[in-house]
Amino acid sequence: MALREIPFGKPIIGDEEKAAVARVLEGTTLTHGPLVKRFEAGFAALTGAPHAIAVSSATAALHLAYFHLGIGPGDEVIVPAQTHVATAHSVEYLGAKPVFVDAERETGNIDIAGIEAAITPNTRAISVVHYLGMPVDMHRVMAITEKRGLFVVEDCALAIGTYLDGVHAGLFGDLGAYSFYPVKHITTAEGGMAITRRDDVAEGVSKERAFGIDRDIVAERPIPGQYDVQGLGFNYRLNELGAALGVEQLKRVPAFLAARAANYDALQEALQEIPEVETLASSHEGFVSSHYCHLAILTPALAAKRYEIMASMKRAGVGTSIYYPHPVPLMTYYREKYGYRDGEFPNASRISDEGIALPVGPHLAPDDMRYVADALRTAITEVR
Ligand SMILES: *Cc1c(COP(=O)(O)O)cnc(C)c1O
Repeated sequence: MALREIPFGKPIIGDEEKAAVARVLEGTTLTHGPLVKRFEAGFAALTGAPHAIAVSSATAALHLAYFHLGIGPGDEVIVPAQTHVATAHSVEYLGAKPVFVDAERETGNIDIAGIEAAITPNTRAISVVHYLGMPVDMHRVMAITEKRGLFVVEDCALAIGTYLDGVHAGLFGDLGAYSFYPVKHITTAEGGMAITRRDDVAEGVSKERAFGIDRDIVAERPIPGQYDVQGLGFNYRLNELGAALGVEQLKRVPAFLAARAANYDALQEALQEIPEVETLASSHEGFVSSHYCHLAILTPALAAKRYEIMASMKRAGVGTSIYYPHPVPLMTYYREKYGYRDGEFPNASRISDEGIALPVGPHLAPDDMRYVADALRTAITEVR
C-alpha cells in the first residue's frame, strides 16, 4: 500500500482558472479576443521579451520559426539528439535536414564543440533545447553563429524561469518557443508562445500563425472581410479559453518556481546518499534552472532493471517518467531516414537509457522529496 500519492506532474488548476474559463464561455468571444493579448503581454513582462506571440503549441512555434526564417529543402539545421521529437520534426516539416549532435555529459544540453564540428556549407540554423530547464551556454552558441550568420532557435518548452546571466531563455537567438502542455511549468491545456527580440520576426510570425492575413482582426478590421494575404500561413492560433487559463497561470509562476527550486534542492540532497545514482549538473555561476524535474542516472548494471525500479516506485505511490525514451536520431523515423546507429550518441543514450525522471513540481513539498528518494533506494534494493 502506498503511503503517499506523488504523481510525476499535475497541473494546478484553481478556482481562479475555473472562473476565468467560465467567464469566457458566458461571453461571446471564443477566439480573436482580448485574453490572448493579455496573456501575450503578461508573458512578455515575465520573460522581459520585447514580443510574445501566443500559438497553439510549442511545436507550432518551432514550425513558424523555421518557416519564417525561410528554412527549406537543401538546408541543414543542427538539432540536439537529447530532446522531444518536436524539436526535430519542426525542421522536417520544411523539408530541411536535421543534423543531430550529442549531449554534453554533465548537463544533457547540446555539446557545443559538437555544434562546430557539425557545421557544413548547408547549415542555416542551430536549434538548442534548455534540457530540463538548465540553460544552454548561449554566449558560446551565439559566438559560433554570429560569425557565420546562422539563425538560432531556442526550444524553451521546459524553460519558464531559465536564465543565463539574468537574461531569460528564448531571448538569445531569433525565436524562443514555449509549451503550455499540461505537464509543463504552466498550462493552457494545449498552447504555446513564441518570444523574440526581433521586430520583423514578431510581425511575420504573428501573421503566419493566422493564415498570413495582413491585418489584426480586432484592431484593424472593423468591417469583416477587409483583408489581404501576401504570404502563406497556418492556423496556429491560441483560443480565448486557453488564454484565460494562461493569464491566471502566469500569476502563479513565482510560487511555482520557488516550490520547484526548494523541491529540487531537497531531492538533490537526498539523492547524494544513494551511491548507485548520478545526477546532472544543476547550477553554475550565472546559470539559473527552471527545475523542470530531477534526473537520477543509474549505473549501467542497474539501468537494465530500470522499468522494474519504476514499477516498484509506482507501487510506493511515486510517479516517474523518462525524458526522453530514445535520443531522437535513434527513433525509427530518423534512424531509417538518415541511417543513424546505436552508439553514435553516447551521452544522449546514457540519459535516455539509464535515467529516471523524478518529480519536483509545485504539487509537492520538500518533505515529499525524502519519500521519493526512499522509494528509489528501496526499489534499487528490491531489484538487486
Ligand atoms: C513538450 C515539449 C515540446 C512540445 O510541446 P507542445 O506544446 O506539446 O508542442 C517540444 N520540445 C520540448 C523540449 C518539450 O519538452
